[in-house]
Amino acid sequence: MAKLYYKFGAMGSSKTASALMCRFNYLQKNINVLLMKPKIDNRFKENEVVSRIGLSAPCLAFAENENLLDIYTEQADKVQVVIVDECQFCTKKQVDQLREIAEEVPVLCYGLKTNFKGELFEGSKRLLEVADSIQEIKSVCECGKKAIMNGRFVKGVLVTDGGEIEIGGDEKYRALCWSCFKKEQERAKIYDKIIKYLKIFKDMDSAGQWSGDTAIDNIVLHTPHVIYDEDVQNFIDDFKEFQVKSPEKNIESDGSIDSLKKIVMKDKDFDYMLQLISFVLKLEKSKPGLLKLLIEDGTLTKWLRQIKKCVDEK
Ligand SMILES: [Zn+2]
Repeated sequence: MAKLYYKFGAMGSSKTASALMCRFNYLQKNINVLLMKPKIDNRFKENEVVSRIGLSAPCLAFAENENLLDIYTEQADKVQVVIVDECQFCTKKQVDQLREIAEEVPVLCYGLKTNFKGELFEGSKRLLEVADSIQEIKSVCECGKKAIMNGRFVKGVLVTDGGEIEIGGDEKYRALCWSCFKKEQERAKIYDKIIKYLKIFKDMDSAGQWSGDTAIDNIVLHTPHVIYDEDVQNFIDDFKEFQVKSPEKNIESDGSIDSLKKIVMKDKDFDYMLQLISFVLKLEKSKPGLLKLLIEDGTLTKWLRQIKKCVDEK
């Protein structure tokens, strides 16, 4: 009895390589294979299935409105097995047509299960519903855990909105476990919020005015402090939303302005930079005016530039 097989995996799980090896095994036994893929995947040549590890084979590319049962029927006398790569891009209708083909010959479908938002593709959904056999091809996150999410990154920042198919963009995909995906989501949130201050602080001559005794909400402050410019205050408030745990732990500074300015940026990563800023904001309470100095002499701009660099290079 022929069956409909669905073999899914996250990005980088070598699904395509598995599809091509499967084809190879059949061909070695003189079994004819019809290799197909949806036209939508045009990263490589249209009529070729190419895996990241360098294997490739000619294939038949079909459009969204094409009937796969018709394609099969036309050459049914010489086809003994059908293999579909990137099957997530099939329409529901096309999966149903594959289901019909599988009444006659085995149909093996390889592809992703979910998109970059963690939602099922139309083709994947239908395959999960109607396949006889469902098998996961496992892949590993950078941290070593099992990857289940396909993170879409633009310039190193995770994006969770946009269309399912982006063609010609400069996006990259990385397979992630759930906790790394959440971490990347948090990083993207922080990045979006604070990177705009790079431009603002770059051109800022005065970050705020020194003040003596003032009353704020009827509480009189007797120590000199800085009333910060609105943009700086917004930065402080925006940053406060992200709780960086024990910021002073990793920072090689005694908290003096000189030691802070001397911190070498080269090789400092995104998380370090967040800890550094968090450290300064914490210090500001006991050393009023510290932030003012660091903004006005360009140190904070340098730090934000490093954050941008970390993201751009990723
Ligand atoms: Zn992970």
